[in-house]
Amino acid sequence: MGFRLRLALFFVATLVTVQLLTAGLVYEVTRHALISEGERQLTANARAFEAQMDDISARVAGNVEVLSLDYALRSAIAERDRGTVLSVLRNHGRRVGASRMLLIGLDGRVQADTAGATPPLTRFPFPDLMRSAYMRRTAAVVATDGKAAWVVVVPIYAPQPVAMVVVYVPLDDALLAHLQHLSALPRDLELAAQLTPGHWSVVARGDRHAGMLASLVAAHQPLPRKPRLTVVDGQQYMVLAQPLQQPASSRPVMAVLGYSLDSALQPFRAVGIAWGSLLALGFGVGLLGAWLTARSVARPIESLALAARRIEAGDYGAPPGMPRHDEIGQLAATFASMTAAIRQREQHIRHQAMHDSVTGLPNRAAAELAIDQWLAAAGSAGGAVLMIGLTRVPDIIKTMGHALCDRLMLDASERIRRTAVEAYLARITDMQFMLWLPQADEPAATAVAIHLLDALNLPYQDTDVTIDGLPSIGIALAPADGSDAATLLRHAEVAQFAASGSSAALSIYDAATDPHRPERLSLMGDLREALEGSKLSLHYQPKLDLGQRRIEGVEALVRWQHPRLGWVPPDSFIGMAEDTGNIHRVTRWALATALAQAKRWRARGLPLQVAVNLSARDLEDRELPARIGALLAIYALPPDCLTLEVTERAVISERDTAIQILRRVAEQGIGIAIDDFGVGQATFAYLRHLPVSELKIDQMFIKHLATDRNDQIIVRSLVDLSHRLGYRVTAEGVESQGALDYLAAIGCDCAQGYFIAPALDVDGFAAFLTARGGTVGVRTPP
Ligand code: C2E
Ligand code: CA
Ligand code: CA
Repeated sequence: MGFRLRLALFFVATLVTVQLLTAGLVYEVTRHALISEGERQLTANARAFEAQMDDISARVAGNVEVLSLDYALRSAIAERDRGTVLSVLRNHGRRVGASRMLLIGLDGRVQADTAGATPPLTRFPFPDLMRSAYMRRTAAVVATDGKAAWVVVVPIYAPQPVAMVVVYVPLDDALLAHLQHLSALPRDLELAAQLTPGHWSVVARGDRHAGMLASLVAAHQPLPRKPRLTVVDGQQYMVLAQPLQQPASSRPVMAVLGYSLDSALQPFRAVGIAWGSLLALGFGVGLLGAWLTARSVARPIESLALAARRIEAGDYGAPPGMPRHDEIGQLAATFASMTAAIRQREQHIRHQAMHDSVTGLPNRAAAELAIDQWLAAAGSAGGAVLMIGLTRVPDIIKTMGHALCDRLMLDASERIRRTAVEAYLARITDMQFMLWLPQADEPAATAVAIHLLDALNLPYQDTDVTIDGLPSIGIALAPADGSDAATLLRHAEVAQFAASGSSAALSIYDAATDPHRPERLSLMGDLREALEGSKLSLHYQPKLDLGQRRIEGVEALVRWQHPRLGWVPPDSFIGMAEDTGNIHRVTRWALATALAQAKRWRARGLPLQVAVNLSARDLEDRELPARIGALLAIYALPPDCLTLEVTERAVISERDTAIQILRRVAEQGIGIAIDDFGVGQATFAYLRHLPVSELKIDQMFIKHLATDRNDQIIVRSLVDLSHRLGYRVTAEGVESQGALDYLAAIGCDCAQGYFIAPALDVDGFAAFLTARGGTVGVRTPP
């Protein structure tokens, strides 16, 4: 049920209820007033009727008294001339309106009857009237033969009483009507005579035949001596029975007076009808008014509801204005200001959702949206995504806090903006910006990237600290490296990650080396299976001691025979194992396997040094030192038979934890070698803080050592400096006699490479040793 209808119904229901209650009240009050009025009138009428009857009695008696003086009558009585008596009586009877006249002897016997109805000498039935007639005028109402009449008894004196004349004046309908006509008697009037005690019959009635007695009898009610409410012919009446003056010898006669409430209410009926019409009119007008009022209330509310629905759907257009000053007007005004507030807040939230709060630049979501839109609009025009990372940001946050880092990023964003004014710039993560160069190809993108690196490489000065953010940039090109923003960003990120590890600090995405290719994920599952199902094995590459000219140790290198892919090179799954957190298991496996093998060699009299590679992630594993200690204990091996190889990058990026872990390892007497030395960013000065015992010069410097003067100078300096600092030096990737000779000549401690031997399985390694004389102390080839 709508608001409108409810309001209208409420109005009208209230109106009708109040009206009906009022009507009921008025009716009841009126009815009560009429009943009281009826009682009063009935009582008064009854008295008036009684008085009237007495009056008439007196008048009739007076008339009849004249008869007693009539000479003719007296002489006729004396002469017992019945004929004359009857004729005189008749004459008189006509005059007074009598229906019957009797002459009664003093003995009470009827001597003459004008009606001729009484046999002569019958006794007059009302002797008490005769007795009282001597004393006063006597008249009374009697009931005879189902009729009522006045009986007047007058004695005849001559001069002694000789007889009595009785006059019957009929008390009939005509008389009652006459009386009603003369005076203010009620129109409902009946005379009732008692037949037997409790049984009454009507002997005369007034001009209206309401049948009051019949109704009372039918309702088994006694005749009421006080005004009583009763129903006569379906109408409400006040009824009162008034006894009349009577001789004791007569049956009782009562005057029954009625007062019709309905008739009395008649004048009010017109008022009622007028009131009903007014009510109907009021009802109609009220309904209309309520409807209109409800509409004027509901309309604006409905329009506000509509506006609310529009807001729900995201349309914040101004709600309909309402030029009203009532509560609804206030509501509408509040609603409008609320809408404006919501609109503002949503704009703010939307801005926040799409922007970085520090630099105010668009964020990743906004960038993806913008690039996708551009790609969709520009078709195949392409472009370049530059992912610009400040590699040291996590370190800076940890040591200097977020506030400084925010300033650094803000400064960096301004530098980028200045360098690439036209490009679309966004901040992607805490440490990365993204630059979208529409329509740029690889050379153009590279040129911008180099400029950016120049700009970002200038250290950031913050009050008294100078910070080097260590920028690196990865480039992904559309559409070659992806046709949607998400892919382009991901690939640019991969490239940036690669760049952060290279000396150029710049890298262009290469799908072939992407460690995040989807197929690599399934490879990870396979790797876990391989670890459990011993599909991995270790190969051992000999390390030649150049001074002693004998094999003094081996480097353990992992090999994976994949059931489907065949041999999988470690370079293609080690990085992935690092990314997916599986590297710890590989390392543990490699350590256990290598040490078990060392134990077996030792048992055969071969005290070989074993070098095992660690990855950067291993240097986050605080349990590693204890684990290695436990393994050495299990195999009862001296700690100096084990060397751990770590790259420069591993110790530089995770400095604190890594250094702690390395220290704890070194404290146990285990050797630490820096792998691939010379290609990364580690300096000798930096290495001084680390518990390093050996440096392994990267293959890059060794490969062409036999011929390349520059490499010779570098390697010789490295060896020199290392020795001065107390490190042993191993040269990796020795592929020629010339290189080997040169290394021996400059006093390099150890050599490793295909020229000596590739990595060999256990049997191959045994065969290698046998071929060289079966002992560790075998001499190198000439
Ligand atoms: P790396 O530690 O630098 O290992 C030396 C790599 O150079 C080995 O490749 C080896 O076979 C190869 N090599 C040895 N002599 C020569 C030579 O004269 N010329 C040339 N061109 N190459 C030579 P490999 O076995 O493919 O291993 C690649 C990389 O995989 C390793 O580089 C190492 O970083 C990683 N790796 C291998 N095994 C493990 C392991 O068990 N754990 C960890 N964390 N990394 C491992
Ligand atoms: Ca190595
Ligand atoms: Ca190496």
